Amino acid sequence: MTEEYLSWEVVVVGGGPAGMTAAIYAARYGLKTILLESKVLGGAQATSPGIENYPGFTFISGLELATKMKEQVKATGAKVREITEVKSITREGEDGDFLLETRRGIYRGKAVIFATGGGHRHLNVPGESEFTGRGVSYCATCDGPLFRDKKVLVIGGGNTAAVESAYLSELTEKTTLVHRRDELRAEKAMQDMVFRSPVEIKWSHIVKEFKGGDLLNEVVLENIKTGELSSVEVDGAFVALGSSPESKLAIDLGIETNKNGEILVNANQTTSIPGFFAAGDVVESMKQIAVAVGHGAIAADSAYIYIRELQRTDPRGYGG
Ligand code: NAP
Repeated sequence: MTEEYLSWEVVVVGGGPAGMTAAIYAARYGLKTILLESKVLGGAQATSPGIENYPGFTFISGLELATKMKEQVKATGAKVREITEVKSITREGEDGDFLLETRRGIYRGKAVIFATGGGHRHLNVPGESEFTGRGVSYCATCDGPLFRDKKVLVIGGGNTAAVESAYLSELTEKTTLVHRRDELRAEKAMQDMVFRSPVEIKWSHIVKEFKGGDLLNEVVLENIKTGELSSVEVDGAFVALGSSPESKLAIDLGIETNKNGEILVNANQTTSIPGFFAAGDVVESMKQIAVAVGHGAIAADSAYIYIRELQRTDPRGYGG
């Protein structure tokens, strides 16, 4: 096994805003730091058409903000391994090193900062998985341009659905927002953006089924107030229902979570397992880039204190 896999002080899992900030801070503290990311650096922010509430930028595309963060991580000297999915995390004894298994080999860390974010929530209705990639999408920034001058639906009522429907309405012939309630959950500024746009809103409707041939061409809706079924002809449907935490690896290690699977942390981003810190959308907190960035900085600071304490109490055992 090569040096790469041995004796890292901090292993950051996940390369969204929380993980990238943690890597920046940990590396600047002088900790030997590696960041493992299953895809490419960026996280969910990279798929946002536009961000208007991250301080310093009145408006910035998610991809541009992610790219700036990525450049900064690389400048700090933290090692980054993309396309490196962590398959399991175990620990050598009660307070020993963490072992993170990947296809490249096993990475060993004194501390882990877990910042895996969330995965797309699904509707779980007939046709959804069948038409994914053939009309059903979970990312307007990625797939929106495929539907230029076509008809699309956006499903959801939060910030993601609001920002994605407003963005799509600029590209498409018609964008319809389908929401199960009669008011949006999105923050007021985002609601105003939708109401100013040509987006048509179908209140109190849910999706019953996605239908089509090779490609999606019809979505069956139900009005939940009347029970009436209707059919809408569309070329695309964007499912924008928020995310569910990617916490399975941590749960398998024995980390405490709430009933939704979000990791429980204290104000120092400390979890129920010493040496294992968590940050960003995977923890029980507000899902915002500004919050994730704060978590990442605190988690790195806590990891620094933890590691210095390890060195002080067990200098011979330290070093792997
Ligand atoms: P969210 O706030 O959790 O909203 C999810 C929406 O999907 C809700 O309106 C919910 O309906 C609906 N929904 C969930 N499951 C559904 C189902 N099975 N069938 C029908 N509808 C369903 O998620 P989000 O909009 O992705 O936002 C997630 C977090 O990211 C939020 O904290 C948000 O502020 C943040 N975000 C921020 C920005 C930004 O630029 N600042 C952009 C995007 C996201 P109900 O309302 O009825 O529950």
